[in-house]
Amino acid sequence: MTVSAKEIEDFYYFVKKIEEFHGHVCVGIAMGTKSALAAMRVLGFDPYVKKHKDLIVYVETDRCMTDAVQGVSGCGLGKRSLKYVDYGKFAATFVRLSTGEAYRVTTTKDFPKELSVDEVLKLVSETPDEEMLLLERVEVDIPENDLPGSAKERAVCSVCNERVMDGRAVYKDGVPYCKACLYGAYYRVKN
Ligand SMILES: [Zn+2]
Ligand SMILES: [Zn+2]
Repeated sequence: MTVSAKEIEDFYYFVKKIEEFHGHVCVGIAMGTKSALAAMRVLGFDPYVKKHKDLIVYVETDRCMTDAVQGVSGCGLGKRSLKYVDYGKFAATFVRLSTGEAYRVTTTKDFPKELSVDEVLKLVSETPDEEMLLLERVEVDIPENDLPGSAKERAVCSVCNERVMDGRAVYKDGVPYCKACLYGAYYRVKN
């Protein structure tokens, strides 16, 4: 299998686009762009369309790759169409909501460290998907409260009185708590 001229052109187009908000081009961006384009292709999504209402993507890292996934898919955390799962893995799962069809993509190839970014880009762009990516069909159960659209469940924390959206409040003896008050927060308020 060879890579078509169109696929190479798409790859460079998105690398350039992602560079604008990621700040640089790196191996993570190259691999992430390649991975995201392959997953979009297999699910039949056009990456040039700005917003896909029928697409949700789970990312498993908050490193470079995720910016590439965002740039290619048009999905975003603030649109509820990008979900961050803190696995520390270079992988992402693309889900077509209407059919449940989903693919998890990971990379199977490392590139020699001594290559320059331009050399990596050339190599990645010209390597067929099946020689550097693993695309597995998967199933994802997406809870109602995780879907885009208006919030289904709202509560007010009985301790801090802050509003808690999307079913994230935890009820103890029928009383609602936010997770920060019930389990301890990641921050401490300074006096
Ligand atoms: Zn980077
Ligand atoms: Zn609270």
